[in-house]
Amino acid sequence: MIAVYPGSFDPITLGHLDIIERGCRLFEWVIVAVARNPNKTPLFTVQQRLNQIKTCTQHLTNLELDTFDTLTVTYATKRKAQVLLRGLRVLSDFEYELQMAHTNHSLSPQIETVFLATSNEYSFLSSSLVKEIAKFGGSATHLVPENVAIELEECFTKTPPSVLIPPPTAPMPPAD
Ligand code: ADP
Repeated sequence: MIAVYPGSFDPITLGHLDIIERGCRLFEWVIVAVARNPNKTPLFTVQQRLNQIKTCTQHLTNLELDTFDTLTVTYATKRKAQVLLRGLRVLSDFEYELQMAHTNHSLSPQIETVFLATSNEYSFLSSSLVKEIAKFGGSATHLVPENVAIELEECFTKTPPSVLIPPPTAPMPPAD
């Protein structure tokens, strides 16, 4: 059975990696598909994210990396996948993930969404959290693969947080 694990992976965390490794034990073939989403402003380019994932998944032999810019189910159908793999962390994930699963099922009933519950130690972990830590000079080495920790550090040493935070907008002139 082929499973597609779609996501932003900006950047990949140990939580993502845990889902990938467990997915590779469950399915014959797993495709990690990085979404090219024009509505998001990522920290890392798609190519950087693919390289990051490639570096930390060398040990997995039934894994493929790809990108997509269509509906997830369109991509999964094209790749002949029967399963969309997603991770579930806290309750707040649930509402969105359930909505997406139902939407995808309404579009392509032959594709099932399979959720893997996060491992306890990664239940709080997200890409946004990791970027926030790195932005303010903290160490994320215990939360992301080693290669990603290095790139995060490089990224924010080159660009101090003040540059990344947009300046406050000018106040509106008083109305006449
Ligand atoms: P998206 O923008 O599609 O939510 P993400 O890269 O944020 O992309 O997440 C991809 C998938 O990985 C989602 O199903 C998300 O719930 C899951 N995920 C993210 N972090 C973790 C984690 N720490 N543990 C388990 N699953 C996770």
